[in-house]
Amino acid sequence: MATGKINVSVENIFPLIKKFLYSDHEIFLRELISNATDATLKLKHLTRLGEANVEYGNPVIEVKVDKKKKTLRVIDHGIGMTQEEVEKYINEVAFSGAEEFLAKYKDSAKDSGIIGHFGLGFYSAFMVANKVEILTKSYKDEPAAHWVCEGTTEFTLTKGDKKEHGTEIILHINEDDKEFLEENRIEELLVKYNKFMPIPIKFGTREETLPLPEDAPEDAKPEKKTVDNIINNPEPAWTKQPTDLEEKDYKDFYRELYPMQFEEPLFHIHLNVDYPFNLTGILYFPRMTQDMNIQKDKIQLYQNQVFVTDNVEGIVPEFLTMLRGVIDSPDIPLNVSRSYLQADGAVKKISSYITRKVADKLKSLFNENREDFEKKWNDIKIVIEYGMLTEDKFFEKAEKFALYPTTEGEYFTFEELQEKIKDNQTDKDGNTVILYASNENEQHSYIQAAKDKGYTVLMLDSPIISHLLQKLETSKEKISFVRVDADHVDNLIKKDEEQISKLSDEEKEKLKADLEKVIPSEKYTIQLEAMDSNAAPLIITQPEFMRRMKE
Ligand code: ADP
Ligand code: MG
Repeated sequence: MATGKINVSVENIFPLIKKFLYSDHEIFLRELISNATDATLKLKHLTRLGEANVEYGNPVIEVKVDKKKKTLRVIDHGIGMTQEEVEKYINEVAFSGAEEFLAKYKDSAKDSGIIGHFGLGFYSAFMVANKVEILTKSYKDEPAAHWVCEGTTEFTLTKGDKKEHGTEIILHINEDDKEFLEENRIEELLVKYNKFMPIPIKFGTREETLPLPEDAPEDAKPEKKTVDNIINNPEPAWTKQPTDLEEKDYKDFYRELYPMQFEEPLFHIHLNVDYPFNLTGILYFPRMTQDMNIQKDKIQLYQNQVFVTDNVEGIVPEFLTMLRGVIDSPDIPLNVSRSYLQADGAVKKISSYITRKVADKLKSLFNENREDFEKKWNDIKIVIEYGMLTEDKFFEKAEKFALYPTTEGEYFTFEELQEKIKDNQTDKDGNTVILYASNENEQHSYIQAAKDKGYTVLMLDSPIISHLLQKLETSKEKISFVRVDADHVDNLIKKDEEQISKLSDEEKEKLKADLEKVIPSEKYTIQLEAMDSNAAPLIITQPEFMRRMKE
């Protein structure tokens, strides 16, 4: 038997861990399962290389709670540890960075967002347990080890009697933390953090109803079978190649991510890059109505299939936080504060990559099926308009697919719109005047009046549209947006009236004749003489035709 002192310069880490991490002690389970997963994957690798002389099989990681004994156990069939390895990995390495960690942690404790992101590793077990045991046997042909530590810097390490390779961690749960002896609570945590981890995780058993054979008599009772309750899907869609997935797989995965979400997503974007940073994921555009609770189901952030957080602030641009889905990257330094994150070079690259991918996807949807894109516009416009407003890079790209619907239900890109109205809606300074309405009911009569004059009226009703219009006005030359009920709408065609007033009688007669060719005279009255010297020189209800005739 060996006894010893854990090698650490901070006299006693445990009270500190408990104090600083109190609000987030649930992450201990994620950490232990991550270790069990690592140990299993390591063995998988070694058996593949032929370096481990054991059968790999189909190992599962098992979590067990025993309310009577007040223990929670995590059992794996991975590489295990020899006694020397326990000394090395558990007693020393885990603490080597303790001082640094604490220094870092004190800083970031101010920024409460960080707490959940800090991988405390094995020692996070002491947040919920007053005593932790490790029973482990290496895949190498060496004696098993039994390590016990009661939350001080003292430990004992003895020879164990474990027969099979692998590791069992036994937590003797604190009185204050007995919630972690409740099956529901543990299942909740497993589903939250471990739902997509790569090694199957078993938590108890469950009854499964077998499907009846087709020729079963009507009164046949379906047979029940007890099966392992496997928590996770070890191969979630985002870890696969886009070419191996069909539309249905993406929809199924959406349902898996958000079991309570019954709306289908509008479309998805599969992210997959391994240079200069590693990132995979699938983002979904949900249907977005103005009154929906956008923040309920959020993008989830994973590191190597381990759930970390659903707070992606600082990692994806703000306008994309309205999307759903997953992002998985080992390259996001989550053990730093959020404000640091935003300044981090790698994170900036990740953020701009995501923005670009989203823009490219939108562009290709627009190009491939414009009609469908127009149908979706109402549901996606908030994200796009918000992106245009806040990200200049996105603004540039979105120019190609951002749509401006008219009150008639037509959709134009900005360029198309400008082309359509430039001859018709120009003010005396030569600015193209874009008329828009924001509320069909309230502005109905104005809309009608403008339409009667032959103007194109946009229907722009997003909550942020006025900001975007401002941005468009400043970034483009010679355009201005005028709301349809603004009092100067009537003066739009000033320039042309003035021009006409300068025409000779002969010219006016010619123009009138030309106008009558295109304007059905039964519908419109055209008078080309001035009513009196101060009034407009002509009375006509469809000015756009005049403009056409001048060409
Ligand atoms: P990290 O996982 O970041 O290395 P941990 O504190 O979680 O840090 O674990 C320390 C080390 O202890 C691991 O790197 C590993 O070598 C060893 N270890 C922990 N749990 C297990 C396990 N279940 N099986 C084998 N080795 C383990
Ligand atoms: Mg670990």
